[in-house]
Amino acid sequence: PTRIVVVGGVAGGMSCAARARRLDETAQITVLERGAFVSYASCGLPYHVGGEIEDTGRLLVQTPGSLRAALDLDVRTGHDVVALDPVRRTVTVRAAGGTSEVGFDALVLAVGACPVRPPIDGLDSPRVRTLRTVGDAVGLRRDIEDGARRALVLGAGFIGLEAAEALARRGLAVTVVELADHVLPPLEPELAHLVTTELRELGVNVRVGVGAAAIEQGVDEDVVVLTDGHRVPADLVVLSVGVRPDTAIVEAAGIACEAGAIIVDEHGRTSAPGVWAVGDATVSSDAVTGARRPVPLAGPANRAGRLVADDILRPGSARPISGPVGTAIVRVGRLTAAITGANRAALDRAGTPHRTLHLHPLQHAGYFPGADPIHLVVHVAQDGGRLLGAQAVGTDGVDRRIDVLATAIRAGLDAGDLIDLDLAYSPPYGQAKDAVNLAGMVATNVLDGTLRLWYSEDLPEVRETALVLDVRSTAEYTTGHLPGSLNVPHTELRARLDEVRGAAAGRPVRVLCASGVRSAIAHRVLAQSGFDSASLSGGMLTLRAVL
Ligand code: FAD
Repeated sequence: PTRIVVVGGVAGGMSCAARARRLDETAQITVLERGAFVSYASCGLPYHVGGEIEDTGRLLVQTPGSLRAALDLDVRTGHDVVALDPVRRTVTVRAAGGTSEVGFDALVLAVGACPVRPPIDGLDSPRVRTLRTVGDAVGLRRDIEDGARRALVLGAGFIGLEAAEALARRGLAVTVVELADHVLPPLEPELAHLVTTELRELGVNVRVGVGAAAIEQGVDEDVVVLTDGHRVPADLVVLSVGVRPDTAIVEAAGIACEAGAIIVDEHGRTSAPGVWAVGDATVSSDAVTGARRPVPLAGPANRAGRLVADDILRPGSARPISGPVGTAIVRVGRLTAAITGANRAALDRAGTPHRTLHLHPLQHAGYFPGADPIHLVVHVAQDGGRLLGAQAVGTDGVDRRIDVLATAIRAGLDAGDLIDLDLAYSPPYGQAKDAVNLAGMVATNVLDGTLRLWYSEDLPEVRETALVLDVRSTAEYTTGHLPGSLNVPHTELRARLDEVRGAAAGRPVRVLCASGVRSAIAHRVLAQSGFDSASLSGGMLTLRAVL
């Protein structure tokens, strides 16, 4: 029988082991896991800390016993693989009973990632925690029960924000500190500000553009000294500044790595024959930009694990592992924030010419109670309109739109194709022109020149060189507007073109409204009357993020 040894028994590793058994009843499948648990719900850990999942047992999706019973897997927890020998095809395992060697025909490295520990003085404080394992979550719950009142979360990525919300729900005073200039750094800044506002609603103190310089350890509390000199007392510090592949033993074995991540081919094969790798520990090529980086997400790890089992047991016919699109989602208070594909920074790095659209469509029919906007940013290729990336923030319906857009990116669809998608609609669920269809319509208008956009970041230049025309109602204008802008409601525009012409005095006209819908109508009126006009992408709702 084929001896398959899997190192790491959570997302990628256990998917691989389970699939291997389903393909081959005779294989001898051993899973070596250094921790106390296998197959646990890492993604559920923050909700255990926050108390939404009370019972620790619910996080343990499988146990060695259940895996033995259902799949005849030999799952050994508390077994730390300390060395690999790809030539002799053995791994060295340290366990309570001593150190031993286990031989393999096929080795799968699903060793995951571990939290990055930046060189900060005092980071070795016992009050500094991470959130990676069941033990970490249980430890944080114990800290709360022991009376921790103030928490500082270092790093406002997905896990940092989930941890911050969880701790705030438990009544702690939480400060989130993020080095980047906005929370959720992969999210575009024009959406991230909505998340910041929601965090503040949850009572979380948000500090961006600063890092931790040092942690002063005290008897009753630690004090985190920030790079701007501020001192934040904390009973608890959650370190969530990112993860790095946990690959010291892999590199030591001479298996090719890139910036610490295991290099694999499209079947998960490493540079060593007979050795495969999956998940957070591997480097992948981004499906949109081709950029090479680890993508530490559960979906890609689980799917790659399954496909690696296919390659081991059905060589030659396994489906290749696709480059990740990088779809991710997080709940923050009442909001959902989700991303798929490339963001602006990634497209700029890759040198991909693109157009960006901002939309705020309602998640369902406006006349149906509870209508609320989905704030949407979409990037399409300048040339050909292929969908490159999308992000959304809103209270409802964000998951569905991002999943449709993620599917569209995977399928290589372009802006026009988005118009053609037949999406489920009735008033409680959507609009006859769904947010995704609308994104396609706006994008095709932009690409064929029907709609000309200007952007929030152009504002300083626009103020100097153009007439800003605000086409909202007079009532809206009075509640707040850009100084120097002219208010002509879009319903009156056709009759007041001469007034606009006079005010513009030969300058371009840059139109804005609340969301970009009325300004697009106004732009069409102006453009067809010979004006050099453009409509503000996303309107005031987007502009507000940069003001
Ligand atoms: P892991 O699941 O981390 O498993 C690796 C295992 O290998 C570990 O158990 C480790 O102990 C073991 N191991 C490592 N080295 C050795 C060794 N030498 N010997 C023996 N065992 C070893 N992703 C999402 O897509 N959505 C989410 O909502 C989400 N939320 C998350 C929330 C939290 C708090 C965390 C921590 C992660 C979250 N993730 C989420 C990420 C997701 O959990 C990971 O991408 C996924 O688990 C990676 O799978 P993996 O198999 O590569 O590694």
